[in-house]
Amino acid sequence: MRVPLIAGNWKMNMTIPEAIELVNGIKIGLRWPEDVDVVVAPPFTSLKMISEIAKDSYIGVAAQNVHQEEKGAYTGEISASFIKDAGANYVIIGHSERRQYFNETDELVNKKVRTSLKHELTPIVCVGETLEEREKGHFVEVIEKQLSVGLEDLTKVLASELVIAYEPVWAIGTGKVATTTQIEDVHEKMRALLAKNFSQEVADSVRILYGGSVKAENSKEIFALPNVDGALVGGASLNSSGFIEIIKSLPSK
Ligand code: PEP
Repeated sequence: MRVPLIAGNWKMNMTIPEAIELVNGIKIGLRWPEDVDVVVAPPFTSLKMISEIAKDSYIGVAAQNVHQEEKGAYTGEISASFIKDAGANYVIIGHSERRQYFNETDELVNKKVRTSLKHELTPIVCVGETLEEREKGHFVEVIEKQLSVGLEDLTKVLASELVIAYEPVWAIGTGKVATTTQIEDVHEKMRALLAKNFSQEVADSVRILYGGSVKAENSKEIFALPNVDGALVGGASLNSSGFIEIIKSLPSK
């Protein structure tokens, strides 16, 4: 059985004091949820502080990006071992904003996934089509390529540890949510591709999150879908009560 996961991507928001207030708000406001993994992804500057606050709680911590190389002359970059050293245990890889503004390719995503797994960081690998790709009707091919190349040559054991987030680019930060039919259709196809590329066992264990304007008002119907295992939440994760409402809308077991 897959344990649902709700991750909050804080993006380039939250000073250190704001980040502390937000994580404490989540910690205090939520009774220990036994049947859900909760993850927050603060900016690098507060990664260590938030990891310390989250330690001994149910909250996991993610970096928002990682460099693919181990170390060296890469001014301004952050390695997987630094992230691990700061106390985080997840890393978001291939977010559409990284693909769009920093030209990250599927090949680069693959390198980052491998480096992260080597350092025992759980990658949350983001895939998703643009509005143009959806309207032209070849969005399934786009997503399948992102997934196949991004996860190329991983062993079944490593692949089963991944978290994948389906985030249609046109739904991120726009208030436009994909319909439940559109979401389930893509998630089902992604799980089938994981079975084909790896094994049924891998497909059954990988958690596939939906991301794109998720908020308390729409999360319940999204979480009820059979192939949705939680959400990657941007804007609505910047407020502890809104984020907690989303977590609470998971179907009770
Ligand atoms: C995101 O950035 O991953 C995201 C889903 O953002 P939002 O929830 O704001 O659409």
